[in-house]
Amino acid sequence: MKILVVNAGSSSLKYQLLDMENESVLAKGICERIGTSGKISHKVADGRKFEAEIPMPTHTEAFQCLVDALTKGELKVIDSMSEISAVGHRIVQGGAIFSKSTLVDDKVIEQISDLAELAPLHNAAHVLGIKACIAALGKDVPEVVVFDTSFHQTMPARAYMYPIPYEYYEKYKVRRYGFHGTSHRYVSDRCAELMGKPKKDLKIVTCHLGNGCSISAIKDGVCIDTSMGFTPLDGLMMGTRTGTMDPSVLTFIAEKENMSPKEMDDMCNKKSGLLGVSGLSNDSRDVNNAAREGNERCRLAVDMQQYEVAKYVGSYIAAMNGIDALVFTGGIGENDPGMREYVSGQLGFLGVTIDLEKNKLRGEEVELSTPESKVKVWVIPTNEELVIARDTLALISK
Ligand code: ADP
Repeated sequence: MKILVVNAGSSSLKYQLLDMENESVLAKGICERIGTSGKISHKVADGRKFEAEIPMPTHTEAFQCLVDALTKGELKVIDSMSEISAVGHRIVQGGAIFSKSTLVDDKVIEQISDLAELAPLHNAAHVLGIKACIAALGKDVPEVVVFDTSFHQTMPARAYMYPIPYEYYEKYKVRRYGFHGTSHRYVSDRCAELMGKPKKDLKIVTCHLGNGCSISAIKDGVCIDTSMGFTPLDGLMMGTRTGTMDPSVLTFIAEKENMSPKEMDDMCNKKSGLLGVSGLSNDSRDVNNAAREGNERCRLAVDMQQYEVAKYVGSYIAAMNGIDALVFTGGIGENDPGMREYVSGQLGFLGVTIDLEKNKLRGEEVELSTPESKVKVWVIPTNEELVIARDTLALISK
């Protein structure tokens, strides 16, 4: 059975075609610059790939390009789209409505549209992706939506409420939702599997550290807290995002610089984090390399991010009253030995020890903790597309 996974952004459309017999990826790619020009990059399982510039005024043309890439030419992997049993879509914001993945119908599309108020950039684009998909494949192919927020819906109110006047929660649904849920779910499930224990008996802290960063506390099999909040801006310092800071900084700078709310939002989301502090790059590789060569602002940016990760992990250990396993994932979590060594080192007082040789590995699933370590430490490469495909399969098999 073949399942197509789609992740539609405002100007891009990423896709993967999976064969669920063995959960292998048959092909994957991305359509970019939708609305301005248009470019597709397509890659098949044996590594062969092509790139082409094709006009993509809207998501509909972009979707047609992926259909052509999958079904035509030398790198086609299927003869016709009728071989695809279902499509799974990644959706950023499911609000408090969607606590699990669900089959798409008109009402679900409307609800995702309505939630666009909480995630303006993302949800509107997801709806365009779903509609383009339905236009290309027809209504007979089942579509499933998988939300970044669903996994965090188990948080208790004390974790998801903000200490602002309660009326804003009632009027505008202002609360912590959390994001990257599909990734936190995947790596925590995999961690329990690797440890050979039921997830409900474990206290796990999962660190998804990429361009966007978030940490979750997973106790008795469910998420009890997570660092991203009302939007993906909350929590840790990230590639270009501030993460949590004193909100007065915003009003102070806005007044001094005469900046609008929109400009402040831009500053916090796009010009801050590693980029803002280093003045060099949002890419942690660049910042780390420059820090090693003696760039002081890059050193500071790296130190700040590592320190914050350790602080969040520590606070979640307190929130769970213990920890059995710490998991690193995402571009930085999977590839940056410096981050892992620092954070594990700060937990030395709990009896955490890691194997520094194994810690040099990049992008591999590996247990970092030594046999004596009181807490297991893992690197588990995330696989959100696989979770989306599995959820899609499960829902259409019902
Ligand atoms: P996104 O949040 O966009 O999905 P990723 O999970 O792909 O991001 O992570 C991107 C981040 O991972 C970048 O900051 C990149 O520098 C970092 N990264 C990738 N490889 C390495 C590496 N070898 N060492 C340090 N950081 C790395």
